[in-house]
Amino acid sequence: MPDCRIASRRPRGGPAEPRYITDPDRLRSFLEDAAHVPGGHAAALVMPTTEFEVAAVIEASAAVLPIGAQSSLTGGATPRGEVLLGMARCNRMIDSGADWVRVGVGMTLADLDAALAQTGRYYPPAPTFNGAFIGGTVATNAAGAATFKTVVLATGDVLDIERGITRAHADGHFDVVLGDRTVRVPVPAYRMPNVPKVSAGYFAAPEMDLIDLFVGAEGTLGVMTEVTLRVRPSRPAWCLAFVPFADRTMALQVVRLLREAAHQTWSTGPPQGPRGLDVSAIEHIDARCLALLRDDGADRRTGVAWPDDTTMALIVTLELPAGTTSQQAFEDIGRAGEAGAPETPLGRFCRLLDRAGVMDDVQIAVPGDIARAEQVLALREAVSATVNSRVGLAQATVDRRIEKTAADMIVPFERLGELLEIYETEFNRRALDVAIWGHISDGNLHPNVLPRSFADVEAGRLAILDLGRKVIRLGGSPLAEHGVGRNRVKQQLLAELYGQTGIDAMRAVKRALDPQWKLAPGVLFPRE
Ligand SMILES: Cc1cc2nc3c(=O)[nH]c(=O)nc-3n(C[C@H](O)[C@H](O)[C@H](O)COP(=O)(O)OP(=O)(O)OC[C@H]3O[C@@H](n4cnc5c(N)ncnc54)[C@H](O)[C@@H]3O)c2cc1C
Repeated sequence: MPDCRIASRRPRGGPAEPRYITDPDRLRSFLEDAAHVPGGHAAALVMPTTEFEVAAVIEASAAVLPIGAQSSLTGGATPRGEVLLGMARCNRMIDSGADWVRVGVGMTLADLDAALAQTGRYYPPAPTFNGAFIGGTVATNAAGAATFKTVVLATGDVLDIERGITRAHADGHFDVVLGDRTVRVPVPAYRMPNVPKVSAGYFAAPEMDLIDLFVGAEGTLGVMTEVTLRVRPSRPAWCLAFVPFADRTMALQVVRLLREAAHQTWSTGPPQGPRGLDVSAIEHIDARCLALLRDDGADRRTGVAWPDDTTMALIVTLELPAGTTSQQAFEDIGRAGEAGAPETPLGRFCRLLDRAGVMDDVQIAVPGDIARAEQVLALREAVSATVNSRVGLAQATVDRRIEKTAADMIVPFERLGELLEIYETEFNRRALDVAIWGHISDGNLHPNVLPRSFADVEAGRLAILDLGRKVIRLGGSPLAEHGVGRNRVKQQLLAELYGQTGIDAMRAVKRALDPQWKLAPGVLFPRE
């Protein structure tokens, strides 16, 4: 029977003395994250290898910021005077079974994938930067569901949390036993939006599992040291397709059909080798992004081409039955149009694209064609790089106050067409130059302003706040996957989403577990 009460324990792995690095040259490379917010400064850096060291640093410090790969896009991994707990050395594969792994939080997604590949297993979280650490992805809710977590609290006590064991009391609280006292942790009463991704402060739901409180908490409630994740016992064969569309409405229709087909496959197909279409991700790139990529020569560099009249390109990841060879895939593509061709997932995919009139321009990397897949992925990566470099250039040449001005919003997929229209109207109304890309199959888009002046940055921030309110009215979340961090606009969006009472409810959770406000202070919300 789940219980709302959990007992902590004292940290293991002592008595190693943490080594505080204060040399400014060593610290310099840890002073900013991928949001490139200026002014990062740290009291020291410790790279612990045990939970004992983590606890010792927390106990000895006034403020601590846990960091992973610092790929955060919110400034949440940029220090503001804290002692940095760099988790890179907690990077061991601790144990594993056919469908689970227990890892140190400092392991990168790329290293986990390489380790799992050796035994044919696979970890399928939402696509993200593969240099991110497991701890960072859990802390920003970019990971799959964890089943077990070890967390060092602000008091230096340690919780081993197993999914299914500790659930909130029906009156909305957990009891956490710390030594000889019990702390009552209240569960916020706000309702989270019903969309596939929400990285907007503390998870809250009636009778929720305690493990989920630390998902998306961005380091403010505890420092994770180990996590157990579910993995798939076999690796599918992947196929990556770059599909340019002249007609945006048709592109959205294709995304809708692919989603429906995939849902049908998941609900009816056998666990291995479904014959239906299995689409694990669809990303999109808008016309403005494509123009920037062309200006930079990314099409020539990657060898991925698109017609001049393209208004939207999709990058579709298909999962094919394990063991599908490139030869089989080429045969399926070649025979897709033939009457009586066998019903294969790839054949269905090609027929769907053919009916949409876009088959002639599709570029497909079949399973095993790593070079082609890398070209398509390189093009995808180039999108954010080209936008960021333009923001950097404007900052260097126009106004030093210019900074990345971007949103990360999600709506229920059925409302996506409306959202695209709202974006167009609102950005045009403010005469802003904006490039949009994202995870379109989730309804999650990333509009990025291309500022020509600081006035564009200010107008962009106001637009994002305004759009955030509209996204909430559409049943979505203005904070989907990047988290909130210390970004002022994102913190305002969090308040828009849950109201001031919601922020106060989060503060009450924080106060219960971290009364001295030691962990990641200022991340998610200011102290008062
Ligand atoms: C090129 C690029 C592409 C990206 N694409 C995506 C994408 O598609 N989807 C997406 O969701 N994100 C994306 N991101 C954002 C980023 O990769 C994710 O937010 C990632 O999950 C952060 O992991 P990290 O290890 O870098 O964490 P960090 O940036 O180091 O930290 C992020 C937050 O987690 C906290 N934290 C880190 N480790 C711990 C720990 N052990 N215990 C407690 N708290 C901790 C930190 O305090 C901080 O608040 C992208 C970033 C880049 C640079």
